[in-house]
Amino acid sequence: MVENPSSTAPSQPSGPDPELFDKVVNLCKRRGFVYPSAEIYGGFRSTYDYGPLGSLMLRNVKDAWWRSMVQLRHDVVGLDAAILSPPQVWEASGHLANFSDPLVDCTNCKTRHRQDNLDDPNKCPSCGKSGTFTEARAFNLMFKTHAGPIEGAGAEVYLRPETAQGMFINFKNIINTTRKRPPFGIAQIGKSFRNEITPGNFVFRTREFEQMELEFFVHPDESQQWYEYWLKERFDWYLDHGIPEDKLMLRPHDDDELSHYSSGTSDVEFMFPWGWGELEGIANRGDYDLTQHSEHAGEKLEYFDQANNERYTPHVIEPAAGATRSMMAFLMAAYDEEIVNDDTRTVLRLDPRLAPYKVAVLPLSKKDTLQPLAHEILGMLQPHYMTEYDETQAIGRRYRRQDEIGTPLCVTVDFESLDDNAVTVRDRDTMEQDRVAVAGLVDHIASKLGF
Ligand code: ATP
Repeated sequence: MVENPSSTAPSQPSGPDPELFDKVVNLCKRRGFVYPSAEIYGGFRSTYDYGPLGSLMLRNVKDAWWRSMVQLRHDVVGLDAAILSPPQVWEASGHLANFSDPLVDCTNCKTRHRQDNLDDPNKCPSCGKSGTFTEARAFNLMFKTHAGPIEGAGAEVYLRPETAQGMFINFKNIINTTRKRPPFGIAQIGKSFRNEITPGNFVFRTREFEQMELEFFVHPDESQQWYEYWLKERFDWYLDHGIPEDKLMLRPHDDDELSHYSSGTSDVEFMFPWGWGELEGIANRGDYDLTQHSEHAGEKLEYFDQANNERYTPHVIEPAAGATRSMMAFLMAAYDEEIVNDDTRTVLRLDPRLAPYKVAVLPLSKKDTLQPLAHEILGMLQPHYMTEYDETQAIGRRYRRQDEIGTPLCVTVDFESLDDNAVTVRDRDTMEQDRVAVAGLVDHIASKLGF
């Protein structure tokens, strides 16, 4: 099949693009990236399940982060800490007292709003009336539950609202059990939970989500230089994984946005279909966290540098990213449409490292004659790459299906393959096709994908 792009649909605008949102959300549902949770019971608001493709892609986003942040470095170790945690942790971190949003109720239409999100703090956006709000109340965002059979005081535990505290409370364990010394980091990926008042925009803001966080411990005199180092590293990570530069920005926080202990915070922001939104926050947190836990736990969380005979509490640089939110950004950035043979071709131009499947094996016909070779090739590729197998429908429609889910390469087994022991490899982005000997297929794919 010859596929000629006769014209290219206008590339995505660099500003907000509301249509893109619906297109990507529909594709996610239609192809099995993301489903609304508990859908057969009518759905559970703002909670999502990651389907066959979404679970692969989310795993790829997390693996890509882990590879950059842990595997390719000598100064970062991993951690997988508990999700359930006792109140003492959140007392020390300040979350019990401060992790809240101000809420107001409209006495006219009975709707509830986040005060800090209102355009006009006196006017209800639902009914349009002014002066109908109650006093603001602080609403804590942590989910509370009970450990053990008896509810009540003493049995209360919290689902972590961030993964970071796990790293701080294990600082001493890690210093004692590894050979890491400042400057060094602890990295963690995992679920976090926040009882968000206004979840929404698909998986951008949900009550259950995944984070990828690093706590990097440094000598106090070096904190500014490490802060700047991580700003650049993290910004470049998104560029390197396929977000175009005109859709990415680094936004330093204004003074009134900074937490009292932070001497600098910047967000990596992405141009979502509705405008700029945060993907990751990078903060210079000083010694706040270790000092707080030292005081509350009565345990010194310091480092003694024998070479310089110096005892100090390390300062912390924290790059904190969202895995689920980043996955959404990668999908939005990759979505493209072009006209091919008078038809619209939808293609997810995902970085091959993030694509759910790397290769699809497509026998030209369903006939038994092609199946043995196609299965043999599938078996050859599976140990190396997530490989899809599809033998129904016309080959052109199967290519479109793979384009739409971002599969970088399709391997077509045709009747000639039985004679020449070669297959056709089609490239998702260029639609170019190469004839490749089966014996050299794995090497060919490795050189095309780059891994
Ligand atoms: P926001 O201002 O969007 O609420 P935040 O500043 O509270 O985010 P952090 O506490 O810095 O977020 O968390 C780090 C990252 O975790 C965020 O940049 C985001 O990618 C992700 N994240 C935070 N809250 C959510 C959520 N409710 N749903 C999905 N991802 C989230």
